[in-house]
Amino acid sequence: HVYTNDEVRELIKKEDVRFLRLMFTDLFGTMKSVDLPISQLDKLLANKVMFDGSSIDGFVRIEESDMYLYPDMGTWLISPWGAEHGKVAQVICSVHLTNGEPFMGDPRNNLKRVLSEMKDAGFTAFNIGPEPEFFLFETDENGEPTLKVNDEENYFDLEAADKGEDCRRDIVLALEKLGFDVEAAHHEVAPGQHEVDFKYSDALEAADNIQIFKLVVKTIAKKYGFHATFMPKPLSGINGSGMHMNMSVFDQDGNTFYDENGKLQLSETAYKFLAGVMKHARAVTAICDPTVNSYKRLVPGYEAPVYVAWSAHNRSPMVRVPSDRGMGTRLELRSVDPSANPYLAIAAILAAGLDGLKNDLKPADSVDENIYTMTEEERVSREILTLPDTLHNALKSLATDEVVKAALGDHLFYNFMEAKTMEYDAYRQSVSRWEQDRYMSTY
Ligand code: ADP
Ligand code: MG
Ligand code: MG
Ligand code: MG
Ligand code: MG
Repeated sequence: HVYTNDEVRELIKKEDVRFLRLMFTDLFGTMKSVDLPISQLDKLLANKVMFDGSSIDGFVRIEESDMYLYPDMGTWLISPWGAEHGKVAQVICSVHLTNGEPFMGDPRNNLKRVLSEMKDAGFTAFNIGPEPEFFLFETDENGEPTLKVNDEENYFDLEAADKGEDCRRDIVLALEKLGFDVEAAHHEVAPGQHEVDFKYSDALEAADNIQIFKLVVKTIAKKYGFHATFMPKPLSGINGSGMHMNMSVFDQDGNTFYDENGKLQLSETAYKFLAGVMKHARAVTAICDPTVNSYKRLVPGYEAPVYVAWSAHNRSPMVRVPSDRGMGTRLELRSVDPSANPYLAIAAILAAGLDGLKNDLKPADSVDENIYTMTEEERVSREILTLPDTLHNALKSLATDEVVKAALGDHLFYNFMEAKTMEYDAYRQSVSRWEQDRYMSTY
């Protein structure tokens, strides 16, 4: 619901709200918030709340640091917490320059820009259904995270209503209070690992939901004495956390990916979109798997994809076509992990897919056999590429992919490359425990 100014005033009075929380997202996908007393409501509704953009990662330098927060009137929520000091109303904001223009270093503004390109191409929505996974770790006496997971349970194990399960249920309840349509919540393969799935929505709302979801998970986990992490691969030797992205493009007639007469009942649009995602997969991976640690998840043996391939019959390739048809017809991109900035990730995926539509791209044949047991020659003969194996190689692919670069725009692309290159360099220069164990005595 897009609130009018008067409706917001009414809501705030009815709920006896005392504070306003203005939220936006930095380059790295971290949600930032500014809290204001309720006396500042009129100023906010007049788009006059200013903040210092130079204090935000990937935004601007000191000399141009004055920026404005405009509330997105469709995103007002009463926060389920903090009532002991008076209720908090939260709203997601877009960042604007002093001249009123949207700031293109704001990942959310950028996603709106890419979505408007999609609308120009005649579509109405890019639907995204995310499946974020996370771990719950025990904390120590100082509240710092330990490396001890909170349980030893396995996938769908219904035994032992332990603390982790209670915590997950509380997360679901909090999400429902915030209007989320939670479709499933379950224990994942690894000990201490959970997944919560909520209903798909149009891209901007889906990205907002992911951000609010992470906040809810972290907040509730803390109440239980856990540390929740969306780090892609927190422990060696067990599954990492992904954030599969289910996606479909709608127009005024419904789901454009469905065609009852098409091969596998998929439309030409679905195949072209898929082809675009495959073509740009390596560069898209830099955005969707943006940390050094992401590439420790994208290895064989733990259900995460390693090759650029698709299938409607097996669950392991980069893109799976789930069996639902009609409105539920969708592609599932399985390479994405939850360290991705959702606004950037969705913009990159959408631009890749739109490129497939614009240029009538055709996807390679599906790969329905186990890619992991194929020989290198077989893979080469079927043109199965690999996903990047390090952040460094992903960034190299991004640097040469004009479509994905354009999906970020100059400001975001430049800042992303610079920050992530520094991140990789810092990693490269640090000596790990693994190296010491491996080489100290041998040499
Ligand atoms: P999996 O079988 O991979 O575990 P889930 O059932 O956990 O998948 O999640 C499926 C996700 O796909 C949900 O978020 C759901 O809302 C979403 N979804 C369903 N239909 C569509 C669609 N047409 N477009 C995008 N997402 C969809
Ligand atoms: Mg799932
Ligand atoms: Mg499922
Ligand atoms: Mg899962
Ligand atoms: Mg899935």
